[in-house]
Amino acid sequence: MYPFEQYHSKALCQALVDQIHLMADRPLRFMEVCGGHTMAVRKYGIPSLLPDSIMLLSGPGCPVCVTSSLFIDQAIHLAAYDRMTICTFGDLLRVQGTNGSLEKAKTEGKDIRVVLSGLDALEIARQQPEKKIVLLGIGFETTAPTTAATILTARKEKISNFFVLSAHKLMPPAMEAIISEGIPINGYICPGHVTTITGIAMYKKIVENFGIGCVVSGFEPLDLLQTILMLVRQVKANQPKVEIQYSRAVKPEGNPKAMAIIEEVFETVDEWWRGLGILKASGLKPRDSFQDFDASEVFSLPVYEISEPEACICGDILKGLKKPQDCMLYGKNCTPDNPVGACMVSSEGSCQTHYNYAGIN
Ligand code: SF4
Repeated sequence: MYPFEQYHSKALCQALVDQIHLMADRPLRFMEVCGGHTMAVRKYGIPSLLPDSIMLLSGPGCPVCVTSSLFIDQAIHLAAYDRMTICTFGDLLRVQGTNGSLEKAKTEGKDIRVVLSGLDALEIARQQPEKKIVLLGIGFETTAPTTAATILTARKEKISNFFVLSAHKLMPPAMEAIISEGIPINGYICPGHVTTITGIAMYKKIVENFGIGCVVSGFEPLDLLQTILMLVRQVKANQPKVEIQYSRAVKPEGNPKAMAIIEEVFETVDEWWRGLGILKASGLKPRDSFQDFDASEVFSLPVYEISEPEACICGDILKGLKKPQDCMLYGKNCTPDNPVGACMVSSEGSCQTHYNYAGIN
């Protein structure tokens, strides 16, 4: 493991930037799939270091950004149940449903609490057996194992007042959908944290079927620049492949134990993604054998129509078709303090990162 300073070394970054400038002799579009990368790219001013020929696009990897109004509406519906507590991660509070957000429901007196992990929600269930506790499960392959492990713990301890409303999603179907839509991309900057769990096998299909290179990247400036150089080299050599830049954290095989827990507890379902619509087998729902923990099975949930805030172009931004600055609401009606769309809610959202670091890029 290198010392932290090395990832920010000006000399090493400059050397990589020089090589990128030397090699990038054609227009190239690379998509960073992960919201963490979107934030790091802007925070470190990576686009300002690249030649004009390289464009970085934000992808669909910010969990809050791709969560539907339907999920928020259903969570608010659940919050109205007698003796119900909804546990959520902080960012989700401010995502708009059809008639407001979880934050608004909280101010109206609903018992909605912010937790840092599923285990916090389970602890509330232990402490308050007279209440029903619903954890809102969002995120990708990175967070799904902890939700699954929480369900397994609840079963082991025979905790019967704990439930999960799952909007967990899987990365590969969204990555494939973007290319299938014909959106021009020359390479994927693949999510580092997700890949620590999944391993790299899932990207091979993208390389084989679409001829798009995939490099799994870390989150420091040096990581991102090296990843971009690796992608440029692949394109120049016309040899798309899967590579791991983030080798200090990612093993090719991932974390088989975490994957086994996902497989044990969840099954895949078709899921809606902002901008991409419903993608086959792209979501996770507790299996029938864990139905007693599945809030969507235990409670009656209306199916609301999915709505998007008027004039919000989050969907196009999440698939690299537009930039936040293309939105007429950006920075005027829509700011981090007063977000209209989901991409301005999360600190990893494309609109919020552009807004926060606009002076750099
Ligand atoms: S600036 Fe706001 S309204 Fe516009 S796309 Fe971004 S989140 Fe949506």
